[in-house]
Amino acid sequence: MDMKREEVDRSKLSPGMKQYMEIKDNYQEELLFFRLGDFYELFFEDGIIASRELELTLTSKNAGLDERVPMCGVPYHSVKPYIEKLIDKGYKVAICEQLEDPKKAKGMVKRGVIQVISKGTIVDFDMLNEHDNNYIASILDYQTSYIVTYTDISTGYLALMEIEKNKSKLLSSILNLGIKEIILSDDSDKELIELLANNYGIEVDISSDYLEKEYEEIYSDIKDIKYITGIKHLFYYLVVKQLKDLSHVSGVEIVKLDDYLEMDIHTIRNLEIVETIRLKERMYSLLWFMDKTKTAGGSRLLKNQLLQPLKDINAINKRYDMIDTLREQFLVKEELMVLLDEVYDLERLCGKIYGGSLNARDVLQIKNSLKVFPQIKEKIKELKFDFDLVDENKLYKLLDDAIYENPPITLNEGYLIKDGYNKELDELKAIRSGGKEFIASLEEEERERTGIKNLKVGYNKVFGYYIEISKGQIGSVKEEFGYERRQTLANAERFVSPILKEKEALVLNAEEKIIELEYNLFCEIKESLKKEVFNLKANAAAISQLDVLVSLATIADDYSLVRPELLQERRIEIIEGRHPVVERVSKFEYVANDCMMSDKDNTMLITGPNMSGKSTYMRQLAIIIIMAQMGSFVPCRSCKIPVFDKIFTRIGASDDLVSGESTFMVEMLEARNAICNATRDSLILFDELGRGTATYDGMSLAQAILEYVNNKIKCKTLFSTHYHELTELANKNEGIKNIHVEAIEKDGKVTFLHKVKDGAVDKSYGIHVAKLAGLPNDVLSRAQEVLNRYEKLSKSKNNKELSEQVTFNFDVATDDKVLEKLKDIDPLNITPMEAMNLLYELKELSKE
Ligand code: ADP
Repeated sequence: MDMKREEVDRSKLSPGMKQYMEIKDNYQEELLFFRLGDFYELFFEDGIIASRELELTLTSKNAGLDERVPMCGVPYHSVKPYIEKLIDKGYKVAICEQLEDPKKAKGMVKRGVIQVISKGTIVDFDMLNEHDNNYIASILDYQTSYIVTYTDISTGYLALMEIEKNKSKLLSSILNLGIKEIILSDDSDKELIELLANNYGIEVDISSDYLEKEYEEIYSDIKDIKYITGIKHLFYYLVVKQLKDLSHVSGVEIVKLDDYLEMDIHTIRNLEIVETIRLKERMYSLLWFMDKTKTAGGSRLLKNQLLQPLKDINAINKRYDMIDTLREQFLVKEELMVLLDEVYDLERLCGKIYGGSLNARDVLQIKNSLKVFPQIKEKIKELKFDFDLVDENKLYKLLDDAIYENPPITLNEGYLIKDGYNKELDELKAIRSGGKEFIASLEEEERERTGIKNLKVGYNKVFGYYIEISKGQIGSVKEEFGYERRQTLANAERFVSPILKEKEALVLNAEEKIIELEYNLFCEIKESLKKEVFNLKANAAAISQLDVLVSLATIADDYSLVRPELLQERRIEIIEGRHPVVERVSKFEYVANDCMMSDKDNTMLITGPNMSGKSTYMRQLAIIIIMAQMGSFVPCRSCKIPVFDKIFTRIGASDDLVSGESTFMVEMLEARNAICNATRDSLILFDELGRGTATYDGMSLAQAILEYVNNKIKCKTLFSTHYHELTELANKNEGIKNIHVEAIEKDGKVTFLHKVKDGAVDKSYGIHVAKLAGLPNDVLSRAQEVLNRYEKLSKSKNNKELSEQVTFNFDVATDDKVLEKLKDIDPLNITPMEAMNLLYELKELSKE
């Protein structure tokens, strides 16, 4: 069955299939879910893909052609997990519904696509992670900049930023925001398209259409034509291609990147701000440590704020003030936490009001959230914060009066509306229950009238109400009872009577009307919600803000964080600083360390054995700065820091963002990025720079970079290294200071104290670490031997200051070759013959 849709002779098709073909013509890229009664069916190639991806049986349908058409079906009431799975696998799904009641339709039932869903446009709660926004973006490529317009349609948030024409900056922004789907115009850079789609699994759509007129009010205040074009580009795709209603989008936020502390994607990854490097999980990230929010909206806002620390001292201090207030009034804070816990995901509920799938349980969630508003309002007033909630008492009363407490998910089986809300509905319900009562009492009456003791009145879906008489009693049924036989069972007969039919009609008629009326009343309530949606969104935003502040105050209390003091001058004075995540996770006591840099200190050169805590110390400083600038208290005893404009890091093995570059190339690219973009107000962390290449090569580069950064850029830099030679630089250059992480050696064992002290170390502990790692003793003792020789050699021949001369001794370089060779030998896996050969080779090398 590999019949292709394109090759079909359409004139032969059955009318139903013709309708399918016409609709499918407009949705070629999507998998079309075509509603047929109780099923969604997928035909032709769509059916084959669905059956493969969803592991469903591929069947076929007679469509008037010689061959049967491949088909795959999913029951309509359990369609969600299937759609979820397909979208997760990167497909787009178009949902085609019956647009009229098949019972009432004349001829073919009208059908049409009601919405298209793709990765970037999901609104369904179950398919979204409540902690993350789900963005779709348009990127337009102008002469001097990129315009990135992005929205989370599940919340109605719309934002726009202009990024300078630099592909790695663009990429960093896209990855930082976690954008799932991107719309590019058809003249876009092919390389960019491929990069996004292949390396990052981002869904890329190409479209060069722009939505005119509709939703103009959203951008009526914007002057810049580039911005307007960005919005129109994004909206065309959403409104025309995906049939989304964007009425809940209240405006557009112009994000000025310059207002925020700049961190590229390497920095965010290296510092494990929102996920860990190895497992790419939220657990054990800084965000995980900081997030004590109670609401989904709060959790998302916290993440966004952490990725966009501020630069404006006043704005940051304002956040500190509010945290202080919450800590002082800790009873209010505790009460607020209880209240916030009652609030559902209001932002996304607002999205659902327009997204079309709002059900009565969602409305109950809105109601239950509104219920605690008056108390939250009260608390905000007590705290004297400068934001407030819009009063929603009227809406709350409406919902409380109207919505039944335990409603079903669907809207077409009634039980949505409470008694007493609508007179007509109450009357219909009375008729229905009157009828039901009558039928219930009929059993007793009929038993008496007919004298048949075990006569029963029952109900089933196919035959409706019936009178059941067991086989043994059938003889007692008389003509005059007026019973009409309906159904024969193994041991009983079922009948109907005129009076039963009459009452049944009444009940069923009332039932039908009730369902219809309840549905209409629900739609009216939805209209009231639509009118309130902007107020609801404003309230949701205020609640998220409050939730974040409460969360920040909570971690300040729980983990002994202190309020930073932000300085105008470039001085760092952190007493007993800690890395909050390592401290929380480590089994051992955390060793707090100071970080002191005067206005004149630019660079701290950190030496110390591997595993002593150099990179933790560097990360700790960056994390304290990021926390401080996002408005949080920080882990230390006291903290005085200036406001930084950018943070650059070159730490550990970093993954290659662009394309198949070598590790060393990536290292150099990152170093270049830092050097070219850092200003005096930036922070740079270089961890073991230059280790990706041969020793002297790496050391020379490290020194050159260090001197450049220290003498030209003069930004604050932490530079860890195992080249002890570099520590000499402190004597030659103003602004460079040596520090080291202490370790003690006793009986051939090393203990790491993790304590940072002034001055340099003069010893590497690499061999000890190798020992800890369990390398064979033979290798360790040989390494010690080689080291001793090497050290002796460098003392006798090379005692001059390397830092100054960088004229390396070639004897050492030769020895290096021998060493390299030796390193490659695995003594446990070598034959005597190979050993002989190697010995010979080594001898030759030593002659060189
Ligand atoms: P280096 O960069 O010197 O190789 P790391 O910074 O990676 O060392 O630290 C190695 C390990 O030591 C970390 O995983 C951490 O568990 C522990 N550590 C580092 N600094 C401290 C500290 N100040 N207090 C306690 N443990 C620490």
